[in-house]
Amino acid sequence: MKRLIPALVCAMLLLPGCGVLLNGLSNMDAAGMATAASTAMTALSITDEQIAQLSAESVAYMDSVNKVDKGSYDARLRRLMSNIKSIDGVPINLKVYRTNEVNAFACGDGSIRVYSGLMDVMDDAELMAVIGHEIGHVVNKDTKTAMKKTYMAYAARQALGSTGTLIGNLSTSVLGDIAQSYLNAQYSQKQEFAADEHGFAFSINQGYSPYSMYNSLVKLMKLNSNSSSKASGVQQAFSSHPATEERAARMKAAADAYSK
Ligand SMILES: [Zn+2]
Repeated sequence: MKRLIPALVCAMLLLPGCGVLLNGLSNMDAAGMATAASTAMTALSITDEQIAQLSAESVAYMDSVNKVDKGSYDARLRRLMSNIKSIDGVPINLKVYRTNEVNAFACGDGSIRVYSGLMDVMDDAELMAVIGHEIGHVVNKDTKTAMKKTYMAYAARQALGSTGTLIGNLSTSVLGDIAQSYLNAQYSQKQEFAADEHGFAFSINQGYSPYSMYNSLVKLMKLNSNSSSKASGVQQAFSSHPATEERAARMKAAADAYSK
């Protein structure tokens, strides 16, 4: 029991606003402390298997709250992805969500989810570049890191109450938060550069133009500047960051070099 408490404090120190959390500690009962500590421990030492389980649970949650296409969008995605069997050895599973949102995400459990709004605005080559970019975030472990951060924040929040739940028994709101952590992730410029490079290589490997990644970035930038409404997920990640023009320029230079 004594060994668990330092781990809990560590988890809190990594989070902003830990003063509030520390104030809450005095009101906590021993059982709450034990549950929170073990949840924090779980988060700190979260295994790849647990991450895969978190991914699967949060994606299942997303599948349950979105309208999954069974028609032409789904057929198009399956046709485009027919050569891709796995991500890092994990078998992929594909679904299209019917919504106007311009978004897509990939997860460490092999899930790839593409929104019909994205499919409406992208040609095949651009769409594959975006999917390749999202897969890049999984391959580079960005998704895992973002998910782990959200789960750790959740574990630390558990210190304020004694309603502790562990992986495998998470509420839909927590699963929703975890889904948001990879759906609307604010990755660093370095992470975006690396994911772009993955999307660049991915689309070339699938037989598309080396300019596919560049074209998709330009299209998303245009889309974002034309739309006054709130940009979502991919649109934000691709378009609202001041460094997006630099990303597009890098991808154009890479394509020029590749084509020489
Ligand atoms: Zn990205």
